[in-house]
Amino acid sequence: MDEKRCILCNKPYNYKYVMFGRGCLDNLYDLLGFSKSPRIIWNKELYLCTRIAWKNHKFFLGKKKKYVLAQKYIALTYINTMNYEALKDIKEKISNDIKNIKTFSRNIVETISFSLNEIYKLVNYVHKFNETLEEIKKINWEEADEKKAENFIKSISFIFDLTEKTSPISYAVFYSMQYTFWQVVVIGGMLANMKLSARLLSNSLSIFGQKPQDLVIEDDETTELIIKNERFKEKINQLIKKYGKNKEDFIVDNEAPKEDILIRFNGGDLLYALHDATMLTKAKKDKDNKWNFEIEINDIYDFTDFKDLKEYSDSEERLRDIFSSTLNNLGVVSSEYGVIQTFNLKIKFKTKEGEF
Ligand SMILES: [Zn+2]
Repeated sequence: MDEKRCILCNKPYNYKYVMFGRGCLDNLYDLLGFSKSPRIIWNKELYLCTRIAWKNHKFFLGKKKKYVLAQKYIALTYINTMNYEALKDIKEKISNDIKNIKTFSRNIVETISFSLNEIYKLVNYVHKFNETLEEIKKINWEEADEKKAENFIKSISFIFDLTEKTSPISYAVFYSMQYTFWQVVVIGGMLANMKLSARLLSNSLSIFGQKPQDLVIEDDETTELIIKNERFKEKINQLIKKYGKNKEDFIVDNEAPKEDILIRFNGGDLLYALHDATMLTKAKKDKDNKWNFEIEINDIYDFTDFKDLKEYSDSEERLRDIFSSTLNNLGVVSSEYGVIQTFNLKIKFKTKEGEF
């Protein structure tokens, strides 16, 4: 004889019901806010389905349609508890499918298919994710020891599962959890003191179904960050030496040798923000014989470039290893999901000798 398995939790049961084990059936009465069935009711499962039909104003459905309707309605109720914007489309589809279950229609039309067990597992993932997230939110990243931080991140890394990409409902849920992870754990936590890096990663997170916009940055804070960086100063001095001798002005643009336009920053925020940037320089001497510069730094922001961090950071960055190994790997998965996307970045500013 075939073993019966509960279509919600997938555990075996040997009871007269068609779909659910007794424990799950009790939970469903609670979930749907139905009072317990009267004792006189022999088949509590069928009664639940009838109640669901009544609640949806469907009064003369056959048994089979009642069961199908119940599954869709239960799925919708569970999906609503997850509260993710990315599930909006899916909710609409299930609602429509519910509407289209009619007493006298011949077929049941489905615009989206799923199993209740899939939804059940997703709800449990989201529950576990939210609980772990609350723990991670308590970390003080300024003092966190790297081992502990790494362990917390590993405890939540089940949300970076590529096999969940194939079903639309799982995809939307895993997408949303990953989006929340980057937003809360990385941007709001680990990168809280690195404003530029946080801003760029934030811009590369795409809202479900959208592409991130390119970014042009021209603010004083970013300018200050760059002109005070050792690598910037070195670069400018090299350029003056090479191009500025006995001249009133010079331009270093894309025609110049690569080593003259490539710039890699050392230390902190800039190290995490810009990876393989190019710097275009327009220089002109003013009446005091000082060089004035118009600078344009261009980069294709790609979070997964973090893997190279180790190569060119010369200072001992506290969280560097987490970014270059663990988070980089997770970033690759999120790129596959489309949660993290690349975009073009331009930073423009003016400065002159003596300011940096
Ligand atoms: Zn069950």
